[in-house]
Amino acid sequence: MTHSVPMRRCVGCMTSFPKKDVVRFVLDEGRPVFDETGKKNGRGVYLCRSMECFDKAVKKKRISNDLRDEFESRIKSVEVTE
Ligand SMILES: [Zn+2]
Repeated sequence: MTHSVPMRRCVGCMTSFPKKDVVRFVLDEGRPVFDETGKKNGRGVYLCRSMECFDKAVKKKRISNDLRDEFESRIKSVEVTE
C-alpha cells in the first residue's frame, strides 16, 4: 500500500477510493456523462462501484437517473481486484 495512489471521493458514501476504483462523470453542458478516459474537462463527480451510491447521488441531484443502466452495466463489466 502506497500513499501516492490518487484518491477520489465517492459522492454517495463520501469515502475515498483509489482513482481506478471509481467511475467518473463529467458535467457536459449541465448533463452528467461518463468520462471513459478520466481526462475530460469539467467538474467531475466520482462514484464507487455501488448502486447504493448511485441512488444516493441521484437523490442529491449530483447525477441523472438516466445513467442508471449504463452505470450498472459498467460496474458489472469491470473486475474489482482487491
Ligand atoms: Zn460510494
